[in-house]
Amino acid sequence: MSNALDIVLHEFGKIAQIPRPSHHEERISAYLCKWAQEHGLTFEKDEMNEVIIDKPASVGCENVPRVIFQAHMDMVCVAEEGLAYDPISDSIKIINDGKTLTADGTSLGADDGIGVAMILYLLQNDSLRHGPIRAIFTTNEEDGMDSVKMDAKYLDGAYLVNLDWETVGSICNSCAGGDFFTFSRKAEWEKPPVGSKRITLSFSNLLGGHSGVGINKGHANALVSLAGVMTMIRQAGFDFSISEFSGGQAPNAIPKFAKAIVAVKAEDIDGIRRVIDDFSAEFKTAFGNIEPEYVFKADIDDAAPSRVLSADSGNALTELMTVVPNNVHTMSPFVDGLVESSSNLGEITVGDDEIRFSVFERSSVAYQATQIGVICRALAERFGFAFASDGHVPGWAVNPNSKLTEIACREYKKLTGTDMIVEPVHAGVECGAFAEKNPNLDMIAIGPTLLDVHTPNESCDIESVRITTELLVKILEAIVG
Ligand SMILES: [Zn+2]
Repeated sequence: MSNALDIVLHEFGKIAQIPRPSHHEERISAYLCKWAQEHGLTFEKDEMNEVIIDKPASVGCENVPRVIFQAHMDMVCVAEEGLAYDPISDSIKIINDGKTLTADGTSLGADDGIGVAMILYLLQNDSLRHGPIRAIFTTNEEDGMDSVKMDAKYLDGAYLVNLDWETVGSICNSCAGGDFFTFSRKAEWEKPPVGSKRITLSFSNLLGGHSGVGINKGHANALVSLAGVMTMIRQAGFDFSISEFSGGQAPNAIPKFAKAIVAVKAEDIDGIRRVIDDFSAEFKTAFGNIEPEYVFKADIDDAAPSRVLSADSGNALTELMTVVPNNVHTMSPFVDGLVESSSNLGEITVGDDEIRFSVFERSSVAYQATQIGVICRALAERFGFAFASDGHVPGWAVNPNSKLTEIACREYKKLTGTDMIVEPVHAGVECGAFAEKNPNLDMIAIGPTLLDVHTPNESCDIESVRITTELLVKILEAIVG
């Protein structure tokens, strides 16, 4: 029989042939069911196409507590510009140079296909000594996390190893949950006063970043910064009305760019110019060394916009955006440098009928998640906005008594001679969903080293796959004792 690494890579190669973007998991789900059947293992498929496969304990290990291994079957499908690639029907072409796996022009899907492949290896290896093993393959992790809705009965076990972590030698033991908050209000349009001048305010080329792990890097939020200067203008005694306001890339990304077009009175131009210059100077001092490429512009011209928001709705919008929680909320009292809770104002649309913007809250503790929600709702009510909260994902708090963390760290050290780094993360991991369903589950997230995930440059380090597979075997053996 070929060695463990060969088997894992073989299984990964077969998975890569099956197109499996998020929301289209029917085929990979059917494949995993058929795989279980062919290997004589019992399996179940839930209504979200998630697959649960059970392998009984080896002889004499029936009383060992159950270990659950979990990975997600969907992937983010992206291709290089100009490449003809249809994620629904085209397979991934893997390039193996002996050291690294990449794909030919597309994302590789090692996030999280390599996790699936490692679990298939454990399920087919009959020479291991282990208690009962359960494999859980989840769907749509990348765009909504279906496992939040998974039936809690599948999480009946003592330990869970999530294989959606992207650095060998690192172990994740806690993650943040999240909520999407939406603020909306009817757009009331009117004609700007005759003789108005137009100012186009814009930020571009900011660094942006992930709204979770990037929230404490000190990057400027383009939308909040623009709302800030607009509020300063009003507080200096100058009226303006908003004709356009746009910006942001996604609710869970720090906005890199934003643009607002406003109408102002001609006689106020000089005063407004001074406010903008003061803002610009302070912004440069605060962010100049962090944001090397940023461009802030304020262009004034005579062409008045054709329509503007009523003073009421425009003022409420900019002021609410200025005061709404955005940035780090609390730091962990237990882990140096770890953000415990935060929020990010990510996107805005000012449409014909409606003004709407979103704030994405993250927290590893339910208390802070609730409090950020309370603050947001109170502010929305004060400023005449409707408030909605959806897409709740629970957090996963640190378990200081985790036996599984201790085992994984010890076995990793024995295998490689180096210490495992224990890393709680201020971002979402499926363990959050599982923690809520079975609070007694002792969980970790580990995985081989992947770089540039969710891009056509995604790569997977082969040696780290070998180490992680071996570590999984050692963890199973250590649990048997
Ligand atoms: Zn993933």
